[in-house]
Amino acid sequence: MNNVPEHNESDVVVVGCGIAGLSTAVSALQGGLSVTLIERAPEPDFGGNSRWTEAYCRMKNEREISDDFEEHFAANAGWNIDPNVLSAAADGYTDWPSYVKAHPFPDPEVITTFAANVPSTVAWLNSFGLRFEPQPIYLLTQNTSRIAAKGGGLALIERLMQEAKALGASVLFETTAVDLLRDEDGRIAGISVVGPDGLRRSVKARATVLASGGYQGNQEMMTRYIGPKARYIRPVARGGYYNKGEGLRMALAAGAAPAGEYGSYHAEPVDPRSRQAEAVVFIWPYGILVNKLGSRFIDEAAATADATYDNVTRTIADQPDGIAWVIFDAQVEEIPRWRASIRSDEPALEANTIAGLAQQLGLPAAALEQTVAAFNAACPPAAGEFTPLALDGRKIVGLEPAKSNWSRPLIKAPFRAYPIISANCFTFGGLKVNTNAQVLDTDGRVMPGLYAAGETVGIYHQVYTGSTSVLRGAVFGRLAGSHAVTTLR
Ligand SMILES: Cc1cc2nc3c(=O)[nH]c(=O)nc-3n(C[C@H](O)[C@H](O)[C@H](O)COP(=O)(O)OP(=O)(O)OC[C@H]3O[C@@H](n4cnc5c(N)ncnc54)[C@H](O)[C@@H]3O)c2cc1C
Repeated sequence: MNNVPEHNESDVVVVGCGIAGLSTAVSALQGGLSVTLIERAPEPDFGGNSRWTEAYCRMKNEREISDDFEEHFAANAGWNIDPNVLSAAADGYTDWPSYVKAHPFPDPEVITTFAANVPSTVAWLNSFGLRFEPQPIYLLTQNTSRIAAKGGGLALIERLMQEAKALGASVLFETTAVDLLRDEDGRIAGISVVGPDGLRRSVKARATVLASGGYQGNQEMMTRYIGPKARYIRPVARGGYYNKGEGLRMALAAGAAPAGEYGSYHAEPVDPRSRQAEAVVFIWPYGILVNKLGSRFIDEAAATADATYDNVTRTIADQPDGIAWVIFDAQVEEIPRWRASIRSDEPALEANTIAGLAQQLGLPAAALEQTVAAFNAACPPAAGEFTPLALDGRKIVGLEPAKSNWSRPLIKAPFRAYPIISANCFTFGGLKVNTNAQVLDTDGRVMPGLYAAGETVGIYHQVYTGSTSVLRGAVFGRLAGSHAVTTLR
């Protein structure tokens, strides 16, 4: 454990050693700048969320992004966006009014820059020996293409950390960034940190990069932005606990514009009993979801699992006590690879009757029996084709809520269930940046000396454009690092 030196100055200071912070640091170091990295975790646990992800990327292969990459962002740019804002954004960027430049929606040119820089960023990661390829996934049905980092996020951060150190970065572990420094004319001039000895020190720099994740590890901010249901929601893996939102708080206090949907987050359905990271349970499209009252509450199969699970899982957090159960029957054995869709290390709860299952789950037996009977009666006739790995249109009839695909009566014992809560992969609220990853203020002006990358950048609304968050870290990190090189050298 090393305390923070009393005098510390470098060209660039980067807060956070996940994929975003390390991509920034290595790009800046490659351009000949000196870099100090600030990381609150002890060295064996550095890297926040990036340490735990399998790092799926919305790409066809290492050179091509998926066909729907930009389209998905455009379709999920925010609720009820003012058409005046959209038409103003169709003009050249320099002509945008300040309220459009500072608007929380994802700027089309920022998203286009993001998408355009993915292949070159992956090629840059390849230059360190890192590889991306198709990998098995827990989603049995998907509506886009994905590849994943070989060795997951852990391989990415370990290799980049090795490179950063080899290029001379100074890394301060167990050191927490708490505030921004400003010089006399207001330029951001570094970071105030608290080191292992609990004392505050200044780390001065000509460029400051916030890559400190979101606020999923901060219950107070979660409650403030997401509401009282935040009490039911926990990070999907240990790394999320380190992301307590200081980077956002300090930048917003300094006048940065917020962007992304502050009241939302990327939700993953996990078994609350499991101690594992990302103990997901994705079998519900082939059964039903019920809440504590034994009632269904949502269409379990409106589309493929990857297109719907963000909303379905967030709705679970809205149920009494923030919990639901998936109920399915022995017909599940007909579905190829069905076990891959459940990563919990806890066993299913099982019984030979629905009433027996209800007893095990602590649910009202009569209500659950009635729910299953009503669902079974609304299922289409057995003759229709059940095709588990493609949308089959087998919808229930005359019952609310609808179930749009894969509806079959639950009749074959044993009946099984898993409890599911909504875990938080990352929060959507972040900072507004331009195409250089420079942070903008609430009037759409560049805040001199300040950059953001990764989860600290706000681009998501509504439904997360799946498998783009690791790429967001690498791309915006590299944009920040290379812009700092261009301006500071
Ligand atoms: C289990 C899991 C699976 C996922 N799967 C995918 C996937 O397949 N594809 C995908 O694209 N995304 C996935 N994600 C999301 C993705 O991994 C993250 O959003 C991304 O890696 C975040 O990178 P980042 O660098 O912005 O933040 P992080 O990796 O979280 O790094 C932030 C760093 O900042 C440090 N820090 C925070 N606050 C401070 C402070 N005040 N002072 C100093 N240091 C601080 C933290 O300790 C941490 O090291 C997954 C996430 C998890 C947890």
